[in-house]
Amino acid sequence: MLGQDETIFALGTAGGRGGIQVIRISGAGAGGALRALAGGIPPPRMLRFTAIRDGDGALLDRGMAVWFPHPASPTGEDYAELHLHGAPQIARLVLGALGALEGLRLAEAGEFTRRAFLNGKMSLDQAEALADVIDADTITQHRQAMARLDAPLSQITETWRAQLINMMAQLEAVLDFADEEIPQNILDTLNRELKEITKEINDLIKENKRGPIIRDGINIVLLGKPNAGKSTFLNALAGREEAIVSAEAGTTRDIINVSLDIQGYAVHIKDTAGLRPTQSAPKNAIEQEGVRRATKAAQQADIVVALIEANTPNPKTALNELLKQAEITKKPPIIMPVISKADLQKNQTTPKNWTKISAKNNTGLEKWQQKLSEIMETLIETNESALISRQRHQNLLKECQTRLTQAQKINLNKNPELTAEELRTAAAALGRISGRIDVEDVLDAIFKSFCIGK
Ligand code: GDP
Repeated sequence: MLGQDETIFALGTAGGRGGIQVIRISGAGAGGALRALAGGIPPPRMLRFTAIRDGDGALLDRGMAVWFPHPASPTGEDYAELHLHGAPQIARLVLGALGALEGLRLAEAGEFTRRAFLNGKMSLDQAEALADVIDADTITQHRQAMARLDAPLSQITETWRAQLINMMAQLEAVLDFADEEIPQNILDTLNRELKEITKEINDLIKENKRGPIIRDGINIVLLGKPNAGKSTFLNALAGREEAIVSAEAGTTRDIINVSLDIQGYAVHIKDTAGLRPTQSAPKNAIEQEGVRRATKAAQQADIVVALIEANTPNPKTALNELLKQAEITKKPPIIMPVISKADLQKNQTTPKNWTKISAKNNTGLEKWQQKLSEIMETLIETNESALISRQRHQNLLKECQTRLTQAQKINLNKNPELTAEELRTAAAALGRISGRIDVEDVLDAIFKSFCIGK
């Protein structure tokens, strides 16, 4: 782990030219750094206008210095900020002057936030929410992340954890008198509490089943025969909507993903290799691999948009054939059938509840999007205040749920030590959400996702 005794510094604002930039300093040497560069330490939490000079006394800039003595600081350590003119040369010179000071070094990615977490300034799920606020591409992602930063899931999970620990303590007390029967009133209370807490956790999981979908985005896969018009459709969509990430083309037959902001939701649309009818099986290994990937993507998707070309005889049969080939036999995904190349459609009726589009003429896309929005609403089932915003949290809650369900099956009177063990594991799962226990393995992954200076 990184040494917390070292004083770190970094540019806290995005680099480049701008109105102002802020350099952050955290650790025991922050006060000394202010003395060295800003000529002294201002009163706590008050901005002071001052000259910023290097070790030789050269004037680097005039700006503001602010001082937060520990523990009432953003990181919980002694902490300072220098607010400077937004010039790259100034940043380079001031960072250089700080680096020349004894015991100071440039911060690693996310290290300020990591120290804030380690010093109890925020829980781990709050740090994750902060990362999500910074990374949010759409309005719903922003709202969800802000809600979780403001009222983290761990507020609830830590209460449950405290209850479980309390129950464990009661059990331990009983276990100390192993020869005696557990008094009935203690048994009753423990059983009741166990039931209540399990129900609360079950309810939370049920109500927030699709919570992570807002953060992670909705996965849509375009499926169809070769030449059904999938790529043209995707291009037409990408041209209309704000592309979050530019399309990443993979190798031939790979899957192309375009992320779009549709009605405030992050949507990832994947264009796949075409699926040929079974009677004309893929010709070569590369195509086979493409088909395998397309099939897998479709099975894992939230929504499959099945493109059936206009004038295909018996579109419904063609749709079933396509789904059979992709081995989609049950929900999820939700299937959205579409007639493509509608401009070529001759006197053929569109099946009920299907949409039709012409990517060439740019028609039908709006209706399709409207239909997609309706499907997304039902799919998400939840609003942006969903308490469970990350898969990691959902997995841990499910782990806790499994343990508590298991604990209820054990005869408390006969095997109290087994119950205690289940409660311990359940509490540990909850503790990993807030980061209060045993999270060393995930810390790097979480904090490395921040930039340097955060
Ligand atoms: P994919 O293999 O499913 O990705 O199909 P493409 O998007 O590459 O389209 C196959 C052919 O159909 C190309 O020649 C397209 O120009 C044409 N095409 C695609 N969409 C339309 C459409 O809406 N109308 C017409 N008339 N042609 C289209």
